[in-house]
Amino acid sequence: QKKQPLDITILANDIIAGNHTALSKGITLVESTVLKHQEQAQLLIEKCLAHANASIRIGITGVPGVGKSTFIESFGSYLTGIGKKVAVLAVDPSSSLSHGSILGDKTRMSELSQDKNAFIRPSASGDSLGGVARKTREAIILCEAAGFDTIIIETVGVGQSETVVHSMVDFFLLLKLAGAGDELQGIKRGIIEMADTIVINKADGKNERPARLAKTAFAKALHLYPPKDSSWTPKVSTCSALEHKGISEIWKDILSYKTLTQENGYFISKRHEQNTYWLLQTIENSLKENFYRDPVVKERLPILLEQLSKNTISPFIAARELLALRKNDH
Ligand code: GDP
Repeated sequence: QKKQPLDITILANDIIAGNHTALSKGITLVESTVLKHQEQAQLLIEKCLAHANASIRIGITGVPGVGKSTFIESFGSYLTGIGKKVAVLAVDPSSSLSHGSILGDKTRMSELSQDKNAFIRPSASGDSLGGVARKTREAIILCEAAGFDTIIIETVGVGQSETVVHSMVDFFLLLKLAGAGDELQGIKRGIIEMADTIVINKADGKNERPARLAKTAFAKALHLYPPKDSSWTPKVSTCSALEHKGISEIWKDILSYKTLTQENGYFISKRHEQNTYWLLQTIENSLKENFYRDPVVKERLPILLEQLSKNTISPFIAARELLALRKNDH
């Protein structure tokens, strides 16, 4: 039996109607490396863009073991309990290496993944962080078109991925543990600066007191940072994702942030800024991809690399030759 060709208009309408299967299909299209799929994906995004609802995009980061998935399960279930529709996406640039992501994994969020008002999708795989980021960004648009009003983007707190996630969210939440120094947790100063709230997780049992102390220490340390463009003063709080304590307070903080930044115009100006950044980023990526995909370049590059290794050509001359090849071609 011949497979029906994919009708993008039907798929878009199904996504907009809130069909989860259609949404999954759409995201798969966005993630595909096949050129035809990418063209279909762009068409799909265009159709969905006008239907994106007012959402809040929340980035969540923290080192492995801090309790991200436990937190998202607890926080997400709280949110669907108060009538929100929650989509969980993940940015994990290592997902292509580890064959499947450890982030946004449904098996880690068993309750939330059963919830009809929640949608969980593991990280797109890709050989570059930029590629994974683009796919996630486009997936956000599809989720919003499907009616999800709260978008959670999870990432591991090591490396560059926090910066990338920060560039696609409205609010950035940093999960920490009490009793481990910054060095031990591998968290750089820049990440603290990005955080709109720091939440000290596992504040339960005998960990409750150290968590409270850590909260005071962080609140003090935050005073040393310059004020944010948003005029928002970052909060520090404690929670127990496991025992569902302190969760509603975090949501209250996020709502206060939203009210403040919507009133002072920062919310919208940040989104504009992010869009500009993504437009430029898309151009850059596309120029690069086209360049390396060019058959002339593909043929000539290995030869020049070979010459380079024998020191018979300089890297600058080689680069100029390749770039000129492309120019002549068009
Ligand atoms: P992730 O790697 O950041 O996603 O962390 P997980 O959510 O997988 O949690 C790592 C471990 O910490 C698991 O064994 C969790 O049960 C435990 N954990 C997570 N949150 C809490 C909490 O609030 N309290 C306690 N006591 N343990 C927690």
